[in-house]
Amino acid sequence: MKRIVVLGGGESGAGAAVLAKKQGFDVFLSDLSEIIAEYKALLDSYEIVWEEKQHSEELILNADEIIKSPGIPDKAPLIKKLHAIGTPVISEIEFAGRYTDAKMICITGSNGKTTTTMLVYHILKNAGLNVGLAGNVGQSLALQVATENFSYYVLELSSFQLDGMIGFKADIAILLNITPDHLDRYEYKFQNYVDSKFRITQNQTANDAFIFWDNDPVIKAELAKRNIQSAMYPFAIERNEKTKAFIENDELIIQTLKSLFTMPTTELALQGMHNTYNSMAAGLAASIVHVRKESIRQSLQDFQGVEHRLEYVATVKNIRFINDSKATNVNSCWYALQSIKTPVVLILGGTDKGNDYAEIEELVKGKVKGLIYMGLDNAPLHTFFDGKVQNIVDVQSMEDAVNAAYKMAGEGETVLLSPCCASFDLFKNYEDRGKQFKNCVRNL
Ligand code: ADP
Repeated sequence: MKRIVVLGGGESGAGAAVLAKKQGFDVFLSDLSEIIAEYKALLDSYEIVWEEKQHSEELILNADEIIKSPGIPDKAPLIKKLHAIGTPVISEIEFAGRYTDAKMICITGSNGKTTTTMLVYHILKNAGLNVGLAGNVGQSLALQVATENFSYYVLELSSFQLDGMIGFKADIAILLNITPDHLDRYEYKFQNYVDSKFRITQNQTANDAFIFWDNDPVIKAELAKRNIQSAMYPFAIERNEKTKAFIENDELIIQTLKSLFTMPTTELALQGMHNTYNSMAAGLAASIVHVRKESIRQSLQDFQGVEHRLEYVATVKNIRFINDSKATNVNSCWYALQSIKTPVVLILGGTDKGNDYAEIEELVKGKVKGLIYMGLDNAPLHTFFDGKVQNIVDVQSMEDAVNAAYKMAGEGETVLLSPCCASFDLFKNYEDRGKQFKNCVRNL
């Protein structure tokens, strides 16, 4: 019997183990950390053998195939060993993709993945399609393939997930943008990260769709180098002879073979330039699977947005507080700053992934009256911004950050949490960071 070893007992690992078991493989799951109770119970209910807080090599190196959680880097010693002995290492999505013939709508990009994924899902679900949501959001694809019978999946794919995908094919691929992120996992070579993102188009044929942002310089340069067979659906604000979605006279226009869709941009639920891109990408995907125009329009209008993404929190003494905790890289902070019309007090900092703050320098100089550095190590921020902004404060907790920002901001101004960094130095994750921010604001 083929032996499958799953490394990592989180959402994707537990789901992969269940699917592998149901498919009749000899399954073992190993996690170097503690596995949460819910997943232990799930594994037990399927009689799957597992271990935690260790990797027993004698039970792992004999695998025929490894399913690796996207959180485990290739440079982890165990993965290096497996590569050396030639054991195939794949991702949970790759594995799950083998056992379903549902249509796959896959979304990647450096920013906007979750928003666009939720938006596509919202449109398809409202249109009455039998659709599941998976990838980085919600339940793992593998568990749903094991226990549900969806005809479509909307999948959010990070570059780490794409790295473990080889035979998988997206019927519809969306590539929103590419800006430097996670370089620590890509040997600090941007091209490696770009290659990872372009895996979203691998195995696609002329019958499959590739939706992408036409004005992204990185995507543009890459397309010139590659010979992609997919049907192309570029989108951009400005129309050109190829764009399939664009803005004209303040109307969002989607032009696919069979239909012409128009909608005033003022009616879009998600405002801001970046969200216009997300709406175009989602609208294109929906029109490719033949969702009716009226239904797309309705869903683009009533979408609720996603927590921690430019989320309005409250106005205190005429100061607006905005939670953009999910802005874990510099580019997403750029879009946040760009969308705000008032002077800003910006709270930023955390675990720096090799950031280049030059991208937001101009916006910071133009709009930001004060910076709150919130992290264990604020040295990179001091090096870059000191002398460029008048007010600067160092803090090491959310409470201090919110209090300092509240003191600094004036009436009619905005306090923005848009950290440019990961959260793991002071918080459990970005959700924890965003929730703490909201609590502190509400306590003012
Ligand atoms: P991801 O899942 O790729 O991290 P999210 O939808 O969670 O993306 O948004 C992350 C951050 O990026 C938020 O701060 C959001 O405001 C910003 N953002 C959303 N869409 C875009 C886009 N198309 N381009 C740039 N930034 C975006």
